[in-house]
Amino acid sequence: MPDHVTFSRNVFLPITNVCRNRCGYCGFRRDPSHPEANLMAIDEVQQILEGGARFGCTEALFTFGEMPEEHPAFKDRINELGYSSVIDYLIELCEIAIGFGLLPHSNPGVLSFSDLKRLRPVNASMGLMLETTAILPAHEGSPGKIPSERIRTISDSGRLKIPFTTGLLIGIGESMEDRIESLTVVRDLHLRYGHIQEVIIQPFSPKPDTAMADSPEPSDQEIADTVTTARRILPDEITIQVPPNLTGFSDLIRCGASDLGGISPYTIDWINPEAKWPRIAELESELGRIGIRLKERLPIYPQYVLNRWYDSGLADLIERYSDEEGFRNGD
Ligand code: SF4
Repeated sequence: MPDHVTFSRNVFLPITNVCRNRCGYCGFRRDPSHPEANLMAIDEVQQILEGGARFGCTEALFTFGEMPEEHPAFKDRINELGYSSVIDYLIELCEIAIGFGLLPHSNPGVLSFSDLKRLRPVNASMGLMLETTAILPAHEGSPGKIPSERIRTISDSGRLKIPFTTGLLIGIGESMEDRIESLTVVRDLHLRYGHIQEVIIQPFSPKPDTAMADSPEPSDQEIADTVTTARRILPDEITIQVPPNLTGFSDLIRCGASDLGGISPYTIDWINPEAKWPRIAELESELGRIGIRLKERLPIYPQYVLNRWYDSGLADLIERYSDEEGFRNGD
């Protein structure tokens, strides 16, 4: 058992729910013509960042539908705002977040090497779920879920020395052998580039009005077996994260998980809006009962803080927020 488990204090910013993909389990995506299609305006983003800063958050988690500009109507909308691409818009939002004292962590989906290179200076870390290396019916109609494309993005992030978060989505039709293959791919990428800070083991959660609405959730035992397998395959310096609003995390800590991800005192989980974040004080006391301390970290993991895997534009904030071990200080 670890003596501590980590989390980061974040705000969740779902910049757009328009996406080129059509994953069978997704309850987040909307077509541009849908009444709930959204592109967050700058003042809306600023309001959340300001609230996050007030609540002591250090992370601005930017999430997206992938490559929304493949829809011409969305492209027109972003052009009307004065940006040539959603990545240009994201870069501006990251700069605004830094101005509010929050460290950006962006998850815009599959990216080109040049876009990753442009995002690196304004992101403390970035993320892309590998999900699985298997070709599955759940990903029919989702060009961004072709495993080789995702592996290329993760690999390019390593070439650029971006501290990186990836993970597996469990229960979308993949087998345990597929999970072992996915974990082995992540391990090999990390052995080559040293950039994987954490691997999320995320259970599939069925959403109404989706193709997989009636598919069963993975069992607790399957999740526990996957965490145990991940701990066996991945090097020790890669942390295993489980989301505390979707899993019975105490048992998973016994299996090798040691991070609870971003927890927001201010915004909801927009991908799983039905699952409320636990309160940080509740987590502290639940973990305390099994002799584990809850420790806050930044969106960039301690080893990358200590080795200075960040751009000079982020140095002030990272150095202001971190202690001598690279965790969040008491400031
Ligand atoms: S890529 Fe993400 S947002 Fe897009 S359909 Fe798939 S799960 Fe939904």
